[in-house]
Amino acid sequence: PADEAHSTPLLIKNLLLSGRRYESQHEIVYRDISRYDYTTFNQRICQLAHALTKAGVKAGDTVAVMDWDSHRYLECMFAVPMIGAVMHTINIRLSPEQILYTMNHAEDIFVLVNSEFVPIYKAIEGQLTTVEKTILLTDEADKTADLPNLVGEYEELLAAEPTSYEFADFDENSVATTFYTTGTTGNPKGVYFTHRQLVLHTLTQAGSMGALDSVRLLGNRDVYMPITPMFHVHAWGIPYTATMLGLKQVYPGRYEPELLMKLIKQEKVTFSHCVPTILGMLLNTSSAKEHDFGGMKVIIGGSALNRSLYEAAKAKGMQLTAAYGMSETCPLISSGYLNQELEAGSEDDRVKARIKAGLPVPLVEARLMDPEGNFLPHDGTTQGELVLRAPWLTQAYFREPEKSDELWLHGWLHTGDVATIDQHSAIEIRDRIKDVIKTGGEWISSLELEDLISQSPAVAEVAVVGVPDPQWDERPFALVVPAQGQDVSARLLSDHLKGYVAEGRINKWAIPSQIAVVSEIPKTSVGKLDKKRIRGEIAEWQKN
Ligand code: ADP
Repeated sequence: PADEAHSTPLLIKNLLLSGRRYESQHEIVYRDISRYDYTTFNQRICQLAHALTKAGVKAGDTVAVMDWDSHRYLECMFAVPMIGAVMHTINIRLSPEQILYTMNHAEDIFVLVNSEFVPIYKAIEGQLTTVEKTILLTDEADKTADLPNLVGEYEELLAAEPTSYEFADFDENSVATTFYTTGTTGNPKGVYFTHRQLVLHTLTQAGSMGALDSVRLLGNRDVYMPITPMFHVHAWGIPYTATMLGLKQVYPGRYEPELLMKLIKQEKVTFSHCVPTILGMLLNTSSAKEHDFGGMKVIIGGSALNRSLYEAAKAKGMQLTAAYGMSETCPLISSGYLNQELEAGSEDDRVKARIKAGLPVPLVEARLMDPEGNFLPHDGTTQGELVLRAPWLTQAYFREPEKSDELWLHGWLHTGDVATIDQHSAIEIRDRIKDVIKTGGEWISSLELEDLISQSPAVAEVAVVGVPDPQWDERPFALVVPAQGQDVSARLLSDHLKGYVAEGRINKWAIPSQIAVVSEIPKTSVGKLDKKRIRGEIAEWQKN
């Protein structure tokens, strides 16, 4: 009927088809283990769709993946939703108990398990309530595994299937993917995204990264490699965008710094993304020391981008741009942008614009809200909770009605972040609401303190949290990893920060009263500073 023809659904299958048209010879590379072109890539997705269907996967079923970043993961990102099933990307860095919780909560029916995770899977298998069948993923020559309810090994299953598949149309509002927030407090919460949402997210990501500003972040001659795990917000959705545009893509498996460096050099990677701590780690590998990254573009998100990291990367020929988002937002919300005025202005202003959360991308509406639900002015100084609307925000937390109501209070998605927005709509994240340090009636941004402290050459890494204080309510406490061969003392940090007090950047009561010099700072499952654990450790030290 004419109506149907005029309302083509927005489906993930449509993202797949175009890449092959543009540059079918471009390769999908997996470590030094496998490589093939877009024609083979498309054929393998058809074979996988057949294999899954044969195994009994039906529309609406949840199919979970437990893997490092691989070409097979990418194939699942397409084949699973393209047959109408829901892909659950399991966060393999969670504890086995949390993995078990998420698998039961998501009601996984099929699970694809990398051979490395067979022991974890077997440890929780007895308590899984919904799983019926498993498929083995392995790089080993030995394709057997002691996996309960095994259908077979992925490559062997694919090899037995035809290389074309008629993917049917269906409702664009069908759920395509689900995954769990990293759960720094309480149980992990499930978020989910529909075909329509992922398609709109992909189009906007491609448009905004490819066309805005003089630093074109992404074009289809770029070579892409993720350094944000595929289980974490679909590697920020960039594999969908890269596939739609037909980029050469490189999947590094488990993140081993020296291997990442080898792939960057060997495959000539020009575009990537990661959280700041992972980039810090990468830049510290011995093979990165003398390497010139030749203008490689890296999007930094998930945590604030410090100026010192920006400068360190720049000195090695890397162009960093900050972006902001969260699991609940698919994730892209905003990214650093230089308008022509900034471009012509001072280097200092340009860097500031690049490292802040930036401007909302098209179709995103960002506001500031006070606790009563009133909107606050966008004047660059008034702080409030950042709230959002966009076509690709999770509609709810899966089977968590109360938490979903909190998330969507007053009809806006609540980020839990304190921010300012200026008259040009530029967002600056000041802190997470729960990490803001409240001292003597003032609010201090832990992110700002971390940024300033990290600019001391004596400091390799820093985290600042508020600790309870009988007189001031809370006081800032800094955990510092010294740079190689450097000594860090409370005195040295305080002298460093006094410079910023003199410039009027911070108040003198923002200077941490206490510091601890440590060799490592606790991180979450995706490599962010784990402030909950840091506060816990400090409380333990203070008890003793
Ligand atoms: P988790 O909350 O477990 O870290 P998310 O990946 O969803 O999981 O994290 C989203 C949060 O990360 C945001 O709410 C914000 O606090 C922080 N964040 C993301 N991007 C930025 C950024 N560019 N600047 C500062 N903070 C950021």
